[in-house]
Amino acid sequence: MSINLKDTAAPLREKRLGSVSGYSGDAEELYKKSHDGSLKDIDRSFSQCTSCSANQVKNQLVYIQDAAVVEHGPAGCSGDIPNRNMVGRSGRKKRKLPIRNLHYINTNLTEKDTIYGGAKKLELSIKEAKRRFNPKAIFVTTTCASGIIGDDVEAVCNKAEKEIGIPVITIICEGFRSKIWALGFDAAYHGILRKIVKPAVNKRNDLINIINFQGKDIFTELFGRLGLKVNYLVPYTTIEQLSHISEAAATVQICATLGTYFAAGLEEHFGVPEVKSPPPYGIAGTDAWFRELGRIVHKEDEVEKLIAEEKDRIAPKLTELKEKLRGKKVYIGAGAAHGHGMMSIVKELGMDLVGGCTWHHDAKFDNSDERSDSLKHVVDNYGNFKLSICNKQSFELVNKLYNLKPDLFITRHASTIWASKLGIPSLEIGDEHFAIGYQGLLNYGEIILDTISNSMFVENIAKHSKLPYTDWWLKQNAFKFLGGEV
Ligand code: SF4
Repeated sequence: MSINLKDTAAPLREKRLGSVSGYSGDAEELYKKSHDGSLKDIDRSFSQCTSCSANQVKNQLVYIQDAAVVEHGPAGCSGDIPNRNMVGRSGRKKRKLPIRNLHYINTNLTEKDTIYGGAKKLELSIKEAKRRFNPKAIFVTTTCASGIIGDDVEAVCNKAEKEIGIPVITIICEGFRSKIWALGFDAAYHGILRKIVKPAVNKRNDLINIINFQGKDIFTELFGRLGLKVNYLVPYTTIEQLSHISEAAATVQICATLGTYFAAGLEEHFGVPEVKSPPPYGIAGTDAWFRELGRIVHKEDEVEKLIAEEKDRIAPKLTELKEKLRGKKVYIGAGAAHGHGMMSIVKELGMDLVGGCTWHHDAKFDNSDERSDSLKHVVDNYGNFKLSICNKQSFELVNKLYNLKPDLFITRHASTIWASKLGIPSLEIGDEHFAIGYQGLLNYGEIILDTISNSMFVENIAKHSKLPYTDWWLKQNAFKFLGGEV
């Protein structure tokens, strides 16, 4: 797949990667269907709320230190901003940056604007963002309303760019464009690749781009042992930093769901090699990830030394954890590639993965390289297991948990409240770096052990809770509405 930076919009994942948001079956079948072209998305005849790509764009862009975001839409589309602001304030504190609110404006499109057009409001909002925040760049993001009324956002941005003298970048991300909200990551990165990143002047053989959210810094120490320096992308960078990411020796990503487009675009247009490997979760994935990085930066010996040292270090504790966790039943619900990483970890800890669901599935990633296929990695290394695709549909999750009754529910982005109401111990993993590498296996093992050791708390919650779902629903097939059954 070639990435076309002349287009204003990133192409849909459905078309580019064969992505789907509905499936029920097992991991091996899903992998086979992803590769023989028979994977088709299946609609639900009933669904509850889910996420949207306009939200995921903000997930990356609002944290750039010296940029501003103007969201062209109704005030309702800014519903995620209070939470993003809280995350941004605590993230800045963690990174020892002065605490402040996000540099964000919503154009507050009203019913009247949907009739007469919102271009004038957008123009004024861009100027207001420049006046209020004095940013080095402004990202203008679209929403369903601005998409439906057909405002020419790109024309407004181009005009404003000339007037105010900084890049004003259109990000096409209206929620209705795609059922795969991860398209928002691609849209944000498309804008950065298109208008911020400059061709490298000085190549640096020690600098590694790390596409991530905003987890704890674990890479400075690890990469330091290899003589490498880290360049975390995109939250908390500056526009100047982003303009130089083409100088790095390689790009790694903590999750291909997040970074597939960015890493492939950096390789294709700026010559930065992408580390093509399974994600660094569990021993098998971490070995492959470090070895591929070592090959690209010509540090194979240093990498082998690090792998041997780390494995020796974790071996006694890992054996102890495996003994305690062997056979415990676990169900996982998480984002696609990161979910596969969690599945690798519980399998390596000797737990019984009774099933899992991911929020969507990409049949392939942008590099089209089998080594990056996180689902293939899990199936090849740990065998088959029940797997479904459920775009955060709580009613499906509750049904699965009720019927499977695992010893533990692990999730990312779906609340643990449902599991607690069912008396099932659960873990919501916020910091994705917590699971990375050899230490990540111990981190997970310890927190899992801690969570399942005493289930009294959730048992008491269950005793005093009433589910909103009826007995009728709990006795149905969890995927009854997948495929149109009424
Ligand atoms: S962009 Fe569309 S789907 Fe997303 S919050 Fe706004 S209206 Fe909802």
